[in-house]
Amino acid sequence: MRAFGVLVALAAVLGLGAPPAQAIDPDWVFYSSDRHHYASPWYAGAHRIMVPFGCNSAPYYDHDPRCPGDQGFHHGLDVAMPCGTRLYAARRAKVIDNASLGPAYGENPVLLRNRKLGWDLVIGHTRKVFVRPGDTVHRGDVFARVSDSGAPDGCHLHFEQRAVAGGLATAVWPRPLLGLVAR
Ligand SMILES: [Zn+2]
Repeated sequence: MRAFGVLVALAAVLGLGAPPAQAIDPDWVFYSSDRHHYASPWYAGAHRIMVPFGCNSAPYYDHDPRCPGDQGFHHGLDVAMPCGTRLYAARRAKVIDNASLGPAYGENPVLLRNRKLGWDLVIGHTRKVFVRPGDTVHRGDVFARVSDSGAPDGCHLHFEQRAVAGGLATAVWPRPLLGLVAR
């Protein structure tokens, strides 16, 4: 009995069995059955995937011939985060002018480029951004905060990995770049 009590106390200290504390945005709509919270070197805290990359039934995307039925193709991965969550640079990258990105990404999305590692990273729905085109972000720099700019479904980030200067058609599954770790 005493051993059980110790185990319960230990579990409480370690935070086992309790999901991470998380503010809820009433506008969030999850199109993923994955209920894990993921940490990443790109942002503070641990948060759920709201819309996964690829074919899915979220209503925001036009039908895509790659997808079954009337499903559309999501070129990024959406992570639901409370408004104002800090965004960190997980890799060194150059800040590129965001003018080539359409309005679906919000009023002030971030476009980062790392030629050596071979990617562009589009981060959609940011509003407060602390860097400008031509800047270099270094690992650990806070460069923006999460918002719902251009998004009908609450504060979140859209992470979209592309080839260098490659455009939307080159988007790939960004999860390895994001380094998501389930909590
Ligand atoms: Zn998205």
